[in-house]
Amino acid sequence: STAILWFRRDLRLADNPALNAAMAAHAKVVPLYVHAPDEDGEWAPGAASRWWLHHSLDALDASLRRHKGGLQILQGSSLDALRTAIEATGATAVYFNRLYEPKAIARDKWVRGELEKDGVAVASFNAALWCEPWDIATQQNEPYRVFTPFWRNLRTRIDAVAPVAEPSPMHLATLPTSSSLDALGLLPTLDWASGFAEWTPGEQGAQEMLDLFADDAVGHYVEGRDIPARHGTSRLSPHLHFGEISPLQVAEGLRDRVKKRKSGADVEPYLRQLGWREFGHHLLFHFPHTPKKNFNPKFNAFRWEKRDAHALRRWKAGKTGIPIVDAGMRELWATGWMHNRVRMLVASLLTKNLRQHWLLGEKWFWDTLVDADLANNAMGWQWVAGSGADAAPYFRIFNPVTQSEKFDPDGAYIRRWVPELASARGRLVHAPWEDAAFLKQSGYPQPLVDLKSSREDALTAYQSIRSGP
Ligand code: FAD
Repeated sequence: STAILWFRRDLRLADNPALNAAMAAHAKVVPLYVHAPDEDGEWAPGAASRWWLHHSLDALDASLRRHKGGLQILQGSSLDALRTAIEATGATAVYFNRLYEPKAIARDKWVRGELEKDGVAVASFNAALWCEPWDIATQQNEPYRVFTPFWRNLRTRIDAVAPVAEPSPMHLATLPTSSSLDALGLLPTLDWASGFAEWTPGEQGAQEMLDLFADDAVGHYVEGRDIPARHGTSRLSPHLHFGEISPLQVAEGLRDRVKKRKSGADVEPYLRQLGWREFGHHLLFHFPHTPKKNFNPKFNAFRWEKRDAHALRRWKAGKTGIPIVDAGMRELWATGWMHNRVRMLVASLLTKNLRQHWLLGEKWFWDTLVDADLANNAMGWQWVAGSGADAAPYFRIFNPVTQSEKFDPDGAYIRRWVPELASARGRLVHAPWEDAAFLKQSGYPQPLVDLKSSREDALTAYQSIRSGP
């Protein structure tokens, strides 16, 4: 018999439970990708994600070709495409790995129901998480809202799950007609993504990234993860988002590599950080409104400033006149990624000093990040804005100058992304406005906002909701 393997954001062959199950039960498997961005509604992949997706699908196709197959691609609605594939091949079953975004859940449920009515067997699996959102709860049997107890519980479970090996041999089948990857039009028409060349989307690229991280940085993660000038973090986020590697593979792969290299590196702090990703998925599943609405309803009364198109433009372009913020925004534009510490600083400037709604920042990140992820992005923005679950308290407003001095002490990160300040001496690289002559000659802009007074204004605005319900 023949089965369809419906690839979505599980773009890998190893540790792919749906693929293993399909291969074990059927003589032939058709690997199918359906391009149906409309089904994601307003959260259809942004420009940077589409770039990644194109290259990831290309890499998956190349891997499948090594097994005498190739990725089959159809466009249109998921249900129509699956029915087309079923009719063309006589398939009796559809296999897929689960997603956790509200729109995807509703679509998958509906597609499953319709296919079952057609007499097609449907089976779904967990390929993305250590623990699915409904399998973990507080002692009161409620969803978690605080990270530390969530992690304590999750940590007890992760050693029990291990990745599954790539099935071998693979018996793949093709469709009579399949769309070409280029026909999906995922690549940008403007040549803005040339700086993305440092990435290698796909399963192989993910393993190489893991290797690189295991070589050294994992052993210094606790100190290194906050220094944006260093490669102190794993940069696995886009690979994880597209399912080119699973958290199970990351955990096992790191332990194996550390053992082989006898480096004695402690992988626990890193695993805990991956726990935040699981927490994000847990929150999105149980509180599906959080990409659009405050998690903490008290914030519904908060007085955001009116949308300021000029300020937003300068923030997006990395021209706020605050060096660490501009470095981050330019890194994002150039590479599709930004260091976590700097994400917090740019988000803080937007939501606190400029008092622009966090939704505006969330949207920009959605379009420009190669790792744009509904769960992590919503959690990140609400965390910084102070409106989220287990968020930073609103009154903790980052000072971008002291943060910059602390985490980019010699300004290496700033100098890399803000060349106007390459020759700035000492503290000037963090606060160039302190020397008017230097600022003028550098061509770098005046700060968009006074950090001190805007901080006070933000705290005053916050007072108004503190006493609320
Ligand atoms: P590492 O430090 O190597 O961490 C390993 C993995 O753990 C990451 O790949 C990621 O999957 C997960 N992780 C680490 N930190 C977090 C975190 N705080 N929250 C959730 N997961 C985490 N991450 C995204 O994947 N997509 C987003 O759209 C996204 N938007 C964000 C928006 C804001 C405002 C903020 C403050 C953070 C956001 N993050 C997002 C979280 C974090 O910044 C990135 O996951 C991280 O920078 C990715 O780099 P890395 O893979 O080198 O991380």
